[in-house]
Amino acid sequence: MPTKKTRSAAHPDLESVMFTEAQIKKRVRELGRELRRVYGEGEFTIISIINGAVMFTADIMRQIDNPVRLDCVRISSYGNATKSEGTPQIVSSLTIDIAGRHVLLIDDILDTGKTIKLVSALVSKLKPASMRTCVLLDKVARREVPFEADFVGFRIPNKFVVGYGLDFAERYRNLPCIGVLSARVQNQHEWT
Ligand code: 5GP
Ligand code: MG
Repeated sequence: MPTKKTRSAAHPDLESVMFTEAQIKKRVRELGRELRRVYGEGEFTIISIINGAVMFTADIMRQIDNPVRLDCVRISSYGNATKSEGTPQIVSSLTIDIAGRHVLLIDDILDTGKTIKLVSALVSKLKPASMRTCVLLDKVARREVPFEADFVGFRIPNKFVVGYGLDFAERYRNLPCIGVLSARVQNQHEWT
C-alpha cells in the first residue's frame, strides 16, 4: 500500500495530478478557438486514434460548431507496458471516404511519434485536401520520429500518465484528471 505522502487525493494510484479536470476543460476550450481560427466555418473530418483519444475527441468536438464528420482508427497499443515498444500496427482502419476532405487527426499523446506518423501516412495516401494533427499531450523529449503536431494541448515531461482517456492496462481511462501513475502500480504485473 502507498504511504499517505505519495498518495494523490484524486486517486490512490496516482503519484501526482499533472492536470486537473478544470485545467483540461480550459485548454480544450482554447483549442476549440484555435481550430475555429484555422478552419473558419468550413467542414472538416476528424479522425480519432482510439481508444486513448476518445475523451479528448468528444470534448473537442463539442467546442466547435463547424459541420464535422468523424471516423476512428484503432492502433495496436503498448499492452501493459509503459514504454513504447516495437512498431505500431493499424488494427482497424477508416470506414469513410476522405479524398478531397480537410482532415484533422486527433490523438491523446504524442510520444515517440511512431503512431501519428503511421496514421498520417495512411491518411496522406487517401489524398485529403489537407491534413492537420491535434494532440492533447506532447512528450517532446521522447521523440524518435521527427513530428510536430499543429495543435498541442500541453507539452509534458517524460512521465507515464493516465486519465482522461489514457490508460494503463485499460484502466484509469475514466479519471477526469491526468496524473502520473505511481511506480508501485507500474511495477505490478498481475493485471491482464
Ligand atoms: P508513440 O507512437 O508516439 O510512441 O505513442 C503514442 C501512443 O502511445 C499514444 O497514443 C498512447 O496510446 C501511448 N502513450 C504514450 N505515452 C503514454 C503515457 O504516458 N501514458 C499512456 N497511458 N499512454 C501513452
Ligand atoms: Mg493511443
